[in-house]
Amino acid sequence: MSEHYSPQVDAQRQMPMKSGVNRRKAIVGAFSLAIVQAGDKVRNALQSEKQPTPEKPTLTIEFLEKKFKLNSEELGLVKTLSEDLHLEDIYRILDLDENDRVVKDENERREWLKINPLLGVSGMEHLGLKSEDIREVAITRFPKGLFYMLHKVVYVDEEIPMPEAYGRNLRGSEGAHVETFTGEIVISKGHKSNLQPHDILNTMRHEAGHFMSPLRNRLLTRQERLQLKQALVDRLKTKVEDHFFSDYVDNISNTDKKAETNYKSEEYLAEIVSFYLSQHLSSHWKPPDAKIVAELIQKMHPGFDVKKMSDFESAKLSEWSKSYFQRKH
Ligand SMILES: [Zn+2]
Repeated sequence: MSEHYSPQVDAQRQMPMKSGVNRRKAIVGAFSLAIVQAGDKVRNALQSEKQPTPEKPTLTIEFLEKKFKLNSEELGLVKTLSEDLHLEDIYRILDLDENDRVVKDENERREWLKINPLLGVSGMEHLGLKSEDIREVAITRFPKGLFYMLHKVVYVDEEIPMPEAYGRNLRGSEGAHVETFTGEIVISKGHKSNLQPHDILNTMRHEAGHFMSPLRNRLLTRQERLQLKQALVDRLKTKVEDHFFSDYVDNISNTDKKAETNYKSEEYLAEIVSFYLSQHLSSHWKPPDAKIVAELIQKMHPGFDVKKMSDFESAKLSEWSKSYFQRKH
């Protein structure tokens, strides 16, 4: 896989919806429910495609301010973000505190990071790989805090279509996606036959970025999540030559421009996290992108040394490649 993802490589699918239209309907439907219900009920509604579509509720900044008791900085961020994003998408960032355990401050984050990470891996036998190999590198290779959101990596031997909401330039089968509620990375047949350990790890780097997103990152406070989203949206507004180049992000298109900005900002984060974790130090790398990722990763793993991690991975990969090819031939 090249350093830039081909259109078929990956998609972020936050919900198991068949199309962008259904997804939006479900978000709007679920949103009105969220006002009166909480927890699992909201999740069930989000996951149900048969949910009737009620009238779109009037979602306002004032409503968000009151419901989430926003402080003045958070309110300022919500106001600025609402110029580029739908309030429904901002709601989802704020709502993480309502439905999940999220750190409240730096001290709490430090406490959380003391727990040893666990990761389930399955389905790799379809590829002739050992699940333990992938698990060992992933646990050592990725920022520790990631494993509060990511619990499992699964390979499914089938083709899964790209989400329609990503537009007509990105048709075909996806390479992987994340399932927020179960904390899984689902890798599928999509882009390549004969996947090898380094392909799986490449895919995981991008998907890991999705789990660090403001929509899911329970190691970031609400204000930090809003700030991160703002930073990403701001990066997209700079000239193409001034931000990180990704064919994949560029090719996302939706007639709803605010929705498009939301999708693009999420994929932009996944792309720069992936680029950082693969230790690419090329001319493509722009200082503001490096700053966003480095700060984010240090929060998720203080002292994380990307160079050391890459060396460990390279050594392991060459060891496995030998045994992989010996098994094959
Ligand atoms: Zn993605």
